Amino acid sequence: MIPISKPYIGEAEKSAVLEVLDSGMLAQGPKTAKLEEKFTEVCNTKYAIAATSGTAALHVGLLAHGIGQGDEVITTPFTFMASVNSIFFVGAKPVFVDIDEKTFNINPDEIEGAITPRTKAILLVHLYGYPCNMDQITGIAEKHGLIIIEDACQAIGAKYKGKPVGSFGTGCFSLYATKNIMSGEGGMITTSDEKIAQRCRMIRNHGMQRRYYHDMLGYNFRMSDLHAAIGLVQIDRLGEFTEARRKNATFLNAHLTSVITPQVLPEYEHVWHQYTIRVKQDVDRDAAVNFLNQAGVGTGIFYPVPAYKQTHLVEMGYSNLNLPVTERIVNDVISLPVHPQLTRADLQKIVEEVNKL
Ligand SMILES: *Cc1c(COP(=O)(O)O)cnc(C)c1O
Repeated sequence: MIPISKPYIGEAEKSAVLEVLDSGMLAQGPKTAKLEEKFTEVCNTKYAIAATSGTAALHVGLLAHGIGQGDEVITTPFTFMASVNSIFFVGAKPVFVDIDEKTFNINPDEIEGAITPRTKAILLVHLYGYPCNMDQITGIAEKHGLIIIEDACQAIGAKYKGKPVGSFGTGCFSLYATKNIMSGEGGMITTSDEKIAQRCRMIRNHGMQRRYYHDMLGYNFRMSDLHAAIGLVQIDRLGEFTEARRKNATFLNAHLTSVITPQVLPEYEHVWHQYTIRVKQDVDRDAAVNFLNQAGVGTGIFYPVPAYKQTHLVEMGYSNLNLPVTERIVNDVISLPVHPQLTRADLQKIVEEVNKL
């Protein structure tokens, strides 16, 4: 089976971990600081603050902006649940708007209709590694005085009109094992706002600036240097990994004929965390997935259920919502392997089997 994802773990990753173990300094330390510095370079921001996961990064980012009880946050229902759960963590209310079927991202044309006096922020997701239309979203945010939180967990290195994701608002990244670069588990917040950066550092560490003096409520979301050491090796290869994904996606786009292939526009630098196709109207998606898996092609469905139809949201009364593009797309998408470790033979096999659909 050609796996849908495969973390790259080389000798350099192994020796980086051993080096930290030998140093005896395992908790957040110099490796974490170095990884934060690397993120500021990749994202072109003044600050980066490491955290234990992408979920923690979203949680901290929302808290740092003072978003909480009584606030509404506009977001997409077509995402990994962490994007939405983080809004609940801080006591705020997610307000869902539909997606654009070509990009799979939040449809900027639908955002203004969802704004109320309680709206505080837009939490957008650069899904699959494809940046949102940031001109339009930034324009709306400025006009209405809204904060932008970017869930860039799938999009490290992606750019919109040459500007890196994570630099338009407060950026949240994940270093989970299957992401474009990984540290096993890990996360990062990016910002150029000194006050927000300062608050993030405090929230990550029990509200402390000075040891054992607690100025606010905080958590333990500190990254360990063991994890940071892996991330440091990987981030130096980000360009190479992304280029391999891009080449694989270009090959698939050029050769797949039986499905709707993903769009790429010149102003959007896609980093292909997922390569996601849509089946044609007369094709049953679940049958197609079975067929591909039988043939040895790994697949993923990201994501099978709109966020507002997940059990805990239904229990909260979100069930009446019906966003038609999202409801259609959840039944049409299949993600195919695109990771850097695919061989030419793997790609040819994927093409051969998918073209039988
Ligand atoms: C992976 C992911 C997250 C959460 O990251 P973790 O590191 O797993 O907590 C959040 N949002 C999106 C879109 C993701 O893909």
